[in-house]
Amino acid sequence: MSHKFFVPGEQIVNNKVTITGSDVSHIRTVLRLKAGESIQIISDSDKLFTVRLVEVQAREIQGEIIASEKFDIESPLAVHLGQALTKGNKFDVILRKSVELGVCSITALTTERCVIKTHQVENKIRRWKKIALESCKQCGRTRVPRVEEGVENLETFCRKNNDRDLKLIFWEMEEKVSLKNLKPDPIPRSVAVLIGPEGGFSPPEIEKTREYGFQTVSLGPRILRAETAPVVALALLQALWGDL
Ligand code: SAH
Repeated sequence: MSHKFFVPGEQIVNNKVTITGSDVSHIRTVLRLKAGESIQIISDSDKLFTVRLVEVQAREIQGEIIASEKFDIESPLAVHLGQALTKGNKFDVILRKSVELGVCSITALTTERCVIKTHQVENKIRRWKKIALESCKQCGRTRVPRVEEGVENLETFCRKNNDRDLKLIFWEMEEKVSLKNLKPDPIPRSVAVLIGPEGGFSPPEIEKTREYGFQTVSLGPRILRAETAPVVALALLQALWGDL
C-alpha cells in the first residue's frame, strides 16, 4: 500500500496537486520518493487519489492525479459531543482522541462546575479547529469534524441537538442504565453525548437535560477522569452502533 497524505481541497486544481508543509520533507527525505513515483492523497472529499509525483522540490511538490476511487471511512453513527471545558491541555487531548474515534462535531461547554474561564474563546476555537484538522490528517479521515463556534451552555446544546436519535448524558451517579441496556430500535444514526467537567454535573443540570429528553447513562462503577470518559463513551458508541 502506498503512503496516504491529506491535502486541502484548494491545493487540488483540475488534476494538479500541490503539496506543501511538513509532508514535503516527509516525502523527499524520509520516504525518498522521486518524480515518477506515486503516493495516495485524501482530501476533504470522499475520494482517494493516486498521484504521480511530477516535481519534487525542497519546499513544494507537484503531482498529477492518475486515478481516483471512492473512499469513505466515516462512521455511519454521527456522534455530537458536548464536552465541558476541562483543565490544562485536557480539552486538546479529548479533541484529538474524539477525532480518532470518528466524532462528527464537538461543542465546548461551560457548566456550573467548570473552573475554566471562557475568555479568549476565539483563539481557543481557532486552535481547536487546527487540532481537529491535524488529527484528521493523522488518522486518515476525509471529513473534518465541526468544532462549534463559541463555548455554549448546556441548554443551548440540548436545544441544538433536539433532533438526534439518541440523547445521552453520562453521569457517574447513574447506577442502573448503561449503554448496553439501551437497545434502541431502530439503530440510531445520530447521538448527542454530554460529558461533564472534573467536578461532574450538578443535580439541577441533570434535571434540566432530562427536560430536553436526555437520559442519564453510566460508564461503569468506577469514576473515570474527565479526559477518559469521552474516549470510553465514543469507543462504546462506535462499537455498538458505529464502525468499531
Ligand atoms: N467529580 C465527579 C466525577 C466527574 S468525572 C466525581 O468525582 O464524582 C467527569 C465526567 O466524566 C462526568 O461528568 C461524567 O460525564 C463522566 N463520567 C466519569 N465517570 C463516569 C461513570 N462512571 N459513569 C458515567 N459518566 C462518568
